[in-house]
Amino acid sequence: MSKILKDLQEILLQGQKLSMQGSLDRRMPDKKSVPFFIGARKGLKEYVTLNPTDSTGWRLLSKVEESLLNYPEALSSLQKTIELGGRDKKDLKKIALLKECLTSWGELELTPEQLDSLGDYLEDKLKDYECNHTLSFTKEWIDENMLESKKTRIVKAINGKGGFCDCEVLANVIRD
Ligand SMILES: [Zn+2]
Repeated sequence: MSKILKDLQEILLQGQKLSMQGSLDRRMPDKKSVPFFIGARKGLKEYVTLNPTDSTGWRLLSKVEESLLNYPEALSSLQKTIELGGRDKKDLKKIALLKECLTSWGELELTPEQLDSLGDYLEDKLKDYECNHTLSFTKEWIDENMLESKKTRIVKAINGKGGFCDCEVLANVIRD
């Protein structure tokens, strides 16, 4: 591995240590880690532009995109890695997982940032009020933040993930 790629990998690892994410976690990475990921992504994008056939660069880029919850980019970078002959035993499983994440995000129609904001909203409300076995706070957030035309589909997708009341949304949709 070249020196520049090693340095970028080091930045990525520092970000991962600070991110507090599990694998394919839907939570945004911890704020402290974001500058590392953004920096690593910028460097890696430049690197793969200059060295488009280096599969290791694409693999690292895929990891950064995954950490930033950019699943389409994580997937295409990993596919590029494999195309270039850099395939690893676990890659096919990872590709399947990334595709799954893409589908479930697609159904939910919420960006990672929106999901994060809904989670904060619910945590805040449920500190002061007990869950009343309805989606009242979730619907409040949806009313304030989402387009009218999307509302019904979002509630349906939330139900589909096991969220039938506010505390279940926190447990099953935001933190699953
Ligand atoms: Zn509840």
